[in-house]
Amino acid sequence: MRYLIALPLVLVFLVSCATTGGRIGRDEMGHRPGPKGFRAVVIDAGHGGKDRGAYSPHTGAKEKDLALDMARRLKRELPGWQTVLMRDGDVFVDLDDRVDFANHHGNAILVSLHFNDGPSGISGPETYYWRVDSYSLARRIQQHLAAVVPGESGNRGLVRRRLRLTRNPDIPCVLVECGYLSNAAEAHRIADAGYRQALADAIADAIKEQSAHGDAGMGPLPPPLNAPPSRPTDARE
Ligand SMILES: [Zn+2]
Repeated sequence: MRYLIALPLVLVFLVSCATTGGRIGRDEMGHRPGPKGFRAVVIDAGHGGKDRGAYSPHTGAKEKDLALDMARRLKRELPGWQTVLMRDGDVFVDLDDRVDFANHHGNAILVSLHFNDGPSGISGPETYYWRVDSYSLARRIQQHLAAVVPGESGNRGLVRRRLRLTRNPDIPCVLVECGYLSNAAEAHRIADAGYRQALADAIADAIKEQSAHGDAGMGPLPPPLNAPPSRPTDARE
């Protein structure tokens, strides 16, 4: 009788190993609880080098420069943590190479930092996630950012979207659009170092909260969504 119960469990175990490439406890779709107790953060400054990202007609700022500034600020706000910058200079890094880089860091999270572009009337931060294991972290980041941003307008807030950096890494991963460079008022706020520091503080607080509490207090997790890895031919990143 005992064997009859155990055999299906063994089969389930073998199948799950096969689908995760043998990484027991990991799920290639990210269908697992959010991380807790982690002390390592891979910080990704979006764009770089030949990839300028967004450009602000109001301040002349380039997204790639602001993203790197934010990455360095975030690193400084996590003393005693293991923090790794995906890039620490004005260099181009392919998105798939960023995924590979993140995959070399176990028990870590990935936070990709960007600034947004859109219709001039839209302002405020947006946080993107795709996987179940990244939901609470994304929600905490969006909540903390919203608390320091005055007069948000029309932005998408917390967004579930399959991107290469929200779907493909092995580790929990979120992408943060820290504000719209296309909005005059927000672009001028972003040009102020004190404001960018407040944004970095907010993201760091959210990361610390996630590590301390995991998914607790974030309500039910979103349903798992099965989708193949995101490819360069997919929607905008
Ligand atoms: Zn970007």
